[in-house]
Amino acid sequence: MNPLIRVIPAFLVRFFAKPYVAGDSLAAAMDVVGRLRRERGLWSTLDLLAEDIREPEQARRNLEAYLQMVDAVAAMPAADRATLSLKPSSYTTEPLHEGGDGGGSFEAMQQIVRRAAANGVDCTIDMEGHPWTDFTLDALSKLHAEGLRNLGCVLQTRLFRTERDLDALPPGLRVRLVIGIYQEAGEIALTDKPAMKDRLLQYAEKLLARGHYVEFASHDVAYVRRFVEEVVPRAGVGADRFEVQMLYGVPRDRFLADLSRAGIKARLYVPFALGWDMAIEYLRRRLDEYPAMMWLVSKNLILRR
Ligand SMILES: Cc1cc2nc3c(=O)[nH]c(=O)nc-3n(C[C@H](O)[C@H](O)[C@H](O)COP(=O)(O)OP(=O)(O)OC[C@H]3O[C@@H](n4cnc5c(N)ncnc54)[C@H](O)[C@@H]3O)c2cc1C
Repeated sequence: MNPLIRVIPAFLVRFFAKPYVAGDSLAAAMDVVGRLRRERGLWSTLDLLAEDIREPEQARRNLEAYLQMVDAVAAMPAADRATLSLKPSSYTTEPLHEGGDGGGSFEAMQQIVRRAAANGVDCTIDMEGHPWTDFTLDALSKLHAEGLRNLGCVLQTRLFRTERDLDALPPGLRVRLVIGIYQEAGEIALTDKPAMKDRLLQYAEKLLARGHYVEFASHDVAYVRRFVEEVVPRAGVGADRFEVQMLYGVPRDRFLADLSRAGIKARLYVPFALGWDMAIEYLRRRLDEYPAMMWLVSKNLILRR
């Protein structure tokens, strides 16, 4: 991460990154989810920003919040229903990236995914930095082996191991393909962005050929177009076998409207926060990805006056 982004005070991070967050309650986030569907024809995947868990009580509250999210989403009409995105580190005070054992995380996710399955709600387990990759893929395999079929995973094209991981995925799993947001060392990952994006296309084609449902998650319009216009026709699959995903707050309105008009399903990752302290890391990563957001927010503020 750019060292400058690292030292911006939390209150300024929160101010500049406001457009990426749907609100500070489940009700506010559900309102956004409903409006995206009604007004723009977009689906959502709902995420509670809850990283850097220090107290067991926080981990328990995150689990509780996700169980409530299952109920809120289950109340939507089936065709409009959001999915839920889960981060394994949200449910443990022993995070693997700090040398812990991830204790409690699997059991919490199992509880959420079981309740979601019983209520017709789909879940995707987000992929965090490389210390979490084995843990997350193991969790997915165990949940799949238990018979849970409401599951999706995330593969990061930057990691060298990803092609092997792709070959070993349980059949039929939904797969969100991303380049990966976590900076990884050159020994284990690509460091060249265009190469990561070329792999988005290669892996998407492979996944479609193997019968997976592909969630192509990128804001790079040129690559999304190549996916839709070249990879999908080559794979010979219909619009029911893939979708395009972007983050809520990233300015791609016109492009998303074009996709919807063309009958292509598009979904936004919609995060909300119950405690801003737990949202700051996610927001710093967004500003690191797109520092110009600080300029855009300032400009809007000045123009509104
Ligand atoms: C739905 C979704 C889910 C994701 N889940 C995960 C996950 O589980 N694990 C993980 O490691 N990563 C995840 N990511 C992040 C992903 O790995 C990339 O870091 C991110 O999408 C940026 O890569 P890009 O392909 O959009 O290309 P980029 O080259 O980074 O971006 C393409 C263009 O979009 C613009 N852009 C990119 N990000 C932003 C932004 N935040 N605000 C404004 N403009 C922006 C860039 O300026 C550039 O012009 C997810 C991304 C999406 C869209």
